[in-house]
Amino acid sequence: MMNIKKILTAALAMGFAFLPAAAQTKSTSPHSAAHKNLLAKQSTAKDQIKLTEHNTFLDLIDDIEPEPDIYTEGWNSKSVNPFKAADVPNTALIDVTGYAMPCKTADRVTSNYGYRARFGRMHKGIDLHIRNNDTIYAAFDGKVRLTAYEGKGYGNYVIIRHPNDLETVYGHLNKALVKPEQVVKAGDPIALGGSTGRSTGPHLHFETRYMGYAINPAAIFDFPNLTTHTDTYAFDKSSYTQGRNYDPRRVTSSTKGSRKSKKSKASASSGKGSSHEVKKGETLSSIAKRNGTTVAALTKLNGISKNSTLRPGQKLKVK
Ligand SMILES: [Zn+2]
Repeated sequence: MMNIKKILTAALAMGFAFLPAAAQTKSTSPHSAAHKNLLAKQSTAKDQIKLTEHNTFLDLIDDIEPEPDIYTEGWNSKSVNPFKAADVPNTALIDVTGYAMPCKTADRVTSNYGYRARFGRMHKGIDLHIRNNDTIYAAFDGKVRLTAYEGKGYGNYVIIRHPNDLETVYGHLNKALVKPEQVVKAGDPIALGGSTGRSTGPHLHFETRYMGYAINPAAIFDFPNLTTHTDTYAFDKSSYTQGRNYDPRRVTSSTKGSRKSKKSKASASSGKGSSHEVKKGETLSSIAKRNGTTVAALTKLNGISKNSTLRPGQKLKVK
């Protein structure tokens, strides 16, 4: 873990912009071209972090913990994933004209959407720097589907369903200001931001989902400029290799370029092979999911209890 920090620090000292993990790309191309690129790949926004913000990021990077997928984990019976069995269209045009920025100070992205090699999983939203108790606003007109608390991940969070078929998720809140079934307008205050759940400092974890598929919020919103990139977002299911709960390994194996080389080591140990090296923050459940197996199978295979404490570096048989 310290290696990443050392490399980044060295890169900074040499005056280079850096590319943390696989989650960020830096582009100097014009805005429209960058946007087309985003639409094509649903990857990351143009992200040119200022030097002062690098230090903030470096402080955060050692502490960022994986956030459980609330569409599959921590989901109570009242709020099962309504899209689980849904027939999701291959493409859809999503009208985002009636938007409001989820936080008015959201000019600093502290962690992008994308695959986090360190945790072997996707970050399905974007993290935006806020101050404690900053007001959080509904991104579009809609109706609150859920307000809940998830101590291991999102903390207090709110999910709103919108007529444009998106759902937005707001995490690590201090306090929700809305209740389920409440109708909201774009820009209505819905919460006070904070650092609840698995978080090391005040930030808003913000997701945009289409029928469960996590879209890169930065492909829709231009956070530094407090606007949107486009009036209509083109959803393309084929850009997701395994849809709503996809396995990062499969993304990796079908992704060209640097992302692949960064992940190749992990793939070698957990892809075709039979063992998995435990990383910080992983649980039997996350390892099972990642390797397409079950907690019961893992505990049996490794002769451990489901309550066993995992330590980073530990090798587990997965097949
Ligand atoms: Zn986040």
